[in-house]
Amino acid sequence: MAGDPPTRDQLEFFRDLGVRDVFFDRPAATPAASVVPGSMHDLGALKTHLDGCPRCKLSKTRTNIVFGQGNPKAELMFVGEAPGRDEDEQGLAFVGRAGQLLTKIIEAIGRTRDEVFIANVLKCRPPNNRNPEPDEVAACRPFLDEQIRLIAPRVIVTLGTFAAQALLETDEPIGRMRGHWRTARGVRVMPTFHPAFLLRSPERKKDVWEDMKLVRDFLADK
Ligand code: URA
Repeated sequence: MAGDPPTRDQLEFFRDLGVRDVFFDRPAATPAASVVPGSMHDLGALKTHLDGCPRCKLSKTRTNIVFGQGNPKAELMFVGEAPGRDEDEQGLAFVGRAGQLLTKIIEAIGRTRDEVFIANVLKCRPPNNRNPEPDEVAACRPFLDEQIRLIAPRVIVTLGTFAAQALLETDEPIGRMRGHWRTARGVRVMPTFHPAFLLRSPERKKDVWEDMKLVRDFLADK
């Protein structure tokens, strides 16, 4: 039976019909409280709040939660889609092949990984790297928003279609968004291509270089 558990009258009715077993759905699990915007003092507290997160179905298949890492007061923050296999195993964002290319992109504008903060929209790996689903984004999004509030970067670079669309709440294609400044949560956002896409389409690296020069020049101008 779906819905509320059966009443005593219903059970007696079934018994009179000769029914021996009645199965009914468990009430849907109440999602654990998310994070109240503005409630965390620092990234450490936010990370602790996320520990063992059961808020979406990815909690059943992940190995590690990938909170993100880097300078908690970074002026430049990168936001990707979701952890991949290497990230899920190590609990760190962008440590696989795409991550190595991201390191080069960061260094190309004269910065290091330690100086910036690197995070993802989703903190847990979708099985087989499938696309994130809306309920997963809804459950995880408050954590990204709180990270942005606490870090207060001057610029966020979104990596790939998914991160740009999720952060900017749009369905515009990345090819149209990249290279143009946007704003989210009061912070300047530069959408660019995802490094995993560049591994497949190296001819687009020059576009990312153009986008990153805009970021570099904006940050140089205090
Ligand atoms: N791709 C992402 O979007 N994020 C990672 O952390 C790794 C690969």
